[in-house]
Amino acid sequence: MKIGSHVGNAGTDMLKGSVLEAVSYDANCFMVYLGAPQNTYRKPLSQLKIPEMRDLLDKYNININDVVVHAPYIVNLAQGDLEKRNFAIDFITKEVKYCYEAGFKTIVLHPGAHVGQGIDTGITNIVSGLIEILERTSHTDVNIAIETMAGKGSEVGSNFSELQEIIKTVNSPRIKVCFDTCHTFDSGYDLVNNYDGVFQEFDKIIGFERLAVIHVNDSKNVLGSKKDRHANIGFGNIGFETLHRVITDKRFVHIPKILETPYVLNPHTNESLPPYKYEIAMIKSGQFNPNLIEDIINHK
Ligand code: FE
Ligand code: FE
Ligand code: ZN
Repeated sequence: MKIGSHVGNAGTDMLKGSVLEAVSYDANCFMVYLGAPQNTYRKPLSQLKIPEMRDLLDKYNININDVVVHAPYIVNLAQGDLEKRNFAIDFITKEVKYCYEAGFKTIVLHPGAHVGQGIDTGITNIVSGLIEILERTSHTDVNIAIETMAGKGSEVGSNFSELQEIIKTVNSPRIKVCFDTCHTFDSGYDLVNNYDGVFQEFDKIIGFERLAVIHVNDSKNVLGSKKDRHANIGFGNIGFETLHRVITDKRFVHIPKILETPYVLNPHTNESLPPYKYEIAMIKSGQFNPNLIEDIINHK
């Protein structure tokens, strides 16, 4: 089972620290941002500790193809403002080049928000942005996985048809998809009661061959809420059984499954604790642990 979480990439250890963090959760894949997710400041590649990262990946038997990068979520290819769009295109181009230099194969990207201009204009902007990025990085083999979105605000990509429209028009094998369980549920796909139907629809409209990453998150809100608030595995409205089914689905064995569930607050110390080691252990056991949150707080 390929299971991991998003991990940090900061301090002096950078990507070396990312691998060590993933290993501390017993993960065999992981996702990182190349810098802070909410800004576009990037350290020079030479400071990211890439050789050290590669040594550790070898040591712990993690395939570099199972390391996923996430583009910062503040860049928006969908909106119309030319200056902002060009900035987004330049920045994502740079990130793709960074991925290539570091040896990463996949970068996850939120398609963007049309901010009032309508879905069609949003899609047109995303398509032309992606085409330009792919052209400017044609010397690389880095894939861009556009993520299924919850439909919060004016987000584009909250249904499979919109993503397929982008994929079809860009028409490149380098465009892949990241399926986020919380987002698809929040956008109205009933994974709980219609598991087979949802994935049949995904396969029919987009195709499993495009699926490159799965984000496994429970949802704090109900089906179709369009809210996008992640919950710990088994502690939301999707539930352990369905999420475990996604993770162990034979069709997805080769795909990195990444947890982006929230840190747990210890109310006594105000410490924020990563849940991933516990969630991964619970997933591997196949049994829901109703005491998971207490176990995390008590370091059990
Ligand atoms: Fe995302
Ligand atoms: Fe996600
Ligand atoms: Zn989300």
